Amino acid sequence: MKWPKLRELKEAVTAVVKGPYTHPFPAEPAPLPDWIRGKPVYDADGCIGCGACAEVCPVRAIEVQDVVAAGGTPFRRLTLHYDNCVFCGECVRHCTTQAGIDFTQDYELSGFDRAEMVEQVEKELVPCELCNRPIGPRDHLLWIYRKLGALAYSNVTVTLAAQDALGLRERLPRDDRPLDRTDIQRVLCPACRRSVTLLDEWGPV
Ligand code: SF4
Ligand code: SF4
Repeated sequence: MKWPKLRELKEAVTAVVKGPYTHPFPAEPAPLPDWIRGKPVYDADGCIGCGACAEVCPVRAIEVQDVVAAGGTPFRRLTLHYDNCVFCGECVRHCTTQAGIDFTQDYELSGFDRAEMVEQVEKELVPCELCNRPIGPRDHLLWIYRKLGALAYSNVTVTLAAQDALGLRERLPRDDRPLDRTDIQRVLCPACRRSVTLLDEWGPV
């Protein structure tokens, strides 16, 4: 019994002289390796609002809301509930731009209110010029335009959205008249594009 006590005494004296073996966290932040997966956050410049990260999230921790308020600019809001996140990395791995979301080294994520445990990014939505339904985020359409290069000219909506962003397009005025073939030169949702294309091909039905 005597020797173990002496060993503990030696360890206590050593600890007083040299300091404790353990890290003084939380008084000081612990050193972290580069590969640590802390809180995932969006990069508003790199994200195009496509929602692919929400599609691949295995625990549905990412919510996609298209907000269309009367009189306001429609926008898409992506909300990452990091209280539900399992830090699997699928959202980072499958991010369309590979620059929209990444892990930080922030690992102190405990809190008292789950509603505050969110990371968000918002992206302006482009509405259809005929029915006003949102087509998709403007940044997403521009990303497709740049990605496709010359092939983008095969898609009128993508091309016109890019011209809008460059300030190169003057919108044709529109009143309550029926559809006609001039409506082809508008930013349209798939349903309205189909209606205008059929009208142009087959005439009024
Ligand atoms: S760009 Fe990346 S982070 Fe942004 S919505 Fe698409 S997949 Fe998610
Ligand atoms: S790290 Fe995994 S669980 Fe967390 S938001 Fe991304 S895909 Fe979902």
